Amino acid sequence: MSDPTRLADPKIIAVANQKGGVGKTTTTINLGAALVEEGCHVLIVDLDPQGNASTGLGVEPEDREFTTYELLLDDAPLEDVIKPTELDGLNIIPATVDLSSADIELISNEKRSFLLHDALRQHAMDAFAYDYILIDCPPSLNLLTVNAMVAAHSVLVPLQSEFFALEGLSQLMLTIREVRQTANPNLRIEGVVLTMYDSRNNLSQQVEDDARENLGDLVFETMIPRNVRVSEAPSYAMPVTEYDPNSKGAQAYGQLARELMSKKVRVAA
Ligand code: ADP
Ligand code: MG
Repeated sequence: MSDPTRLADPKIIAVANQKGGVGKTTTTINLGAALVEEGCHVLIVDLDPQGNASTGLGVEPEDREFTTYELLLDDAPLEDVIKPTELDGLNIIPATVDLSSADIELISNEKRSFLLHDALRQHAMDAFAYDYILIDCPPSLNLLTVNAMVAAHSVLVPLQSEFFALEGLSQLMLTIREVRQTANPNLRIEGVVLTMYDSRNNLSQQVEDDARENLGDLVFETMIPRNVRVSEAPSYAMPVTEYDPNSKGAQAYGQLARELMSKKVRVAA
């Protein structure tokens, strides 16, 4: 891309939270698509054996012969695993349920924490000229998530605007700190983004207040509202930014993309 704002190397962001259903996959897909709308080239890496990001972006089962599993464990070449999506500029490395055994198969591998790092930071990646690589993590702090944190420059944490939202966050921060102390000293926290926010609900506001009080400017100004168009989009195999660009959800992900592009990476954990 001749765009002078293009980063020299792709910025790699792990989208992580060990809780399920908090909006990791939704944020990965829609932030990815929104970054493409802003002129970026984006690769999504589906690192969840559930393969929701792959399904949500319309990768058919027959197109999942080469997946994240083959990338990690069989050294599959990038051109075999990277698939196009309906949205120009947005690619994906899909996942299948095969990946669920990777966590155990990796244990005996002495490079077990570095496999995704080595795969994503190989020279052959330069030819794809990505600006961002977003990794959709599984709902667990397992070896797959550790691989994502070792490969990444930063971690983006979706936080569901629900009771107990902040619970478990300290465990996540601890894992980030451990990765920093061992395999990836430069790992940063990109930020925490509140998802499924409902401004009419006191609970949402309370979670927001708590998050901003405890986490300060780690919390993105942009919040993602609870919006039915966001939840409908994956069944049409589209990001919400394509499915209904004028919806509140699509607009919010656009705003999140611009906030992400404009800010410096936050340092504190
Ligand atoms: P995770 O990947 O963390 O498990 P998902 O992204 O799959 O979470 O989201 C969990 C569920 O919540 C999905 O059914 C998704 O469609 C829905 N969802 C996520 N974000 C929103 C939103 N902003 N508005 C409405 N539904 C949402
Ligand atoms: Mg998910």
